Amino acid sequence: MISVEHLTKCYGDFTAVDDLSFEIVEGHVYGFLGPNGAGKSTTMNIMTGCLSATSGHVRIDGYDIFEEPNKAKKLIGYLPEQPPLYMSETPLEYLKFVGEAKGLRGAELKKQIEEVIQRTKLTDVKNRCISALSKGYKQRVGIAQALLGNPKVIILDEPTVGLDPIQIIEIRDLIKELGKTHTVIFSSHILSEVQAICDQVLIISKGKLVAFDEPSKLEKLLMTTNEIIITSDATREEIKETLADVNHITDMSFDERNTEYAVAHIRTDHDNIYDISGAIFSAFAAKGKVLLEMTLKKANLEDVFIELTENSNKDNASSGSETDMEITESEEVVR
Ligand code: ADP
Ligand code: MG
Repeated sequence: MISVEHLTKCYGDFTAVDDLSFEIVEGHVYGFLGPNGAGKSTTMNIMTGCLSATSGHVRIDGYDIFEEPNKAKKLIGYLPEQPPLYMSETPLEYLKFVGEAKGLRGAELKKQIEEVIQRTKLTDVKNRCISALSKGYKQRVGIAQALLGNPKVIILDEPTVGLDPIQIIEIRDLIKELGKTHTVIFSSHILSEVQAICDQVLIISKGKLVAFDEPSKLEKLLMTTNEIIITSDATREEIKETLADVNHITDMSFDERNTEYAVAHIRTDHDNIYDISGAIFSAFAAKGKVLLEMTLKKANLEDVFIELTENSNKDNASSGSETDMEITESEEVVR
């Protein structure tokens, strides 16, 4: 459906999108996840024909976005980061204007406007001035205009930014609903959002694609860093001795904050964390030592995201303070 090949975008000597390649197939909801400044909007602007690329190709259903922009653009509905809404118009007037610009006329225009108003639940506000609508409703108007012309692919750039929690849930539900009839690509810097809505995740950091998979598979990527945390009234030396014969323990460190009991963080490279927790339990029982608590810390998509974006930032460590800022931003968002 969409093929992006070696896409690069430079602003002066700054590379915002760096040799990005991926394929989007029909019928999925894709989440474009990355910290602020990762290059999400730049990539979406190029994919939708709103921005030129420095090099590389984007093909929509075989049409090159740079060589056959009109044919390619017909297949895409786009909600940019800052939707170009006309504040003095009503949703109905605005949708008529956009529909005409997309080449719709007469009965077909009317029918499609009615359909998108219904789908985006704008019926009650369709005759109010856009400037008087809440941010959530304005965003719906933006999504409604993207749906006009019935494009195969809907691309939404950070559609939930600036919305209150209830509006966020409504927009997420709307995106899931759209996913039933369209291929949807949306960007977000919020992990839980991507995890909740999409069935494919592209993680982008510093203009590079660092991961592309189903949310559950990405979590498995980090299963090797599974951690088991145990609390015991045995001494640190006794714990080390007790666990000396347990295989697949790759690392053990002790919590310095807890002085009453020993708290050990045990890392394993074993695929099945339960095999290791079972072996630890048996080892303690065999030595007659007491285990007060055992917690299994499994990797989740947040861990994958932090690891991948931090690693990619380390690779680019020469770019200085901006790198540090972006790590902080991504951590703020995901914790
Ligand atoms: P995201 O949408 O992931 O937050 P963007 O695609 O907006 O990221 O930006 C990627 C990088 O490119 C950022 O570092 C941003 O400052 C830079 N950038 C974006 N647009 C311009 C521009 N017109 N001129 C110079 N730099 C830009
Ligand atoms: Mg952006």
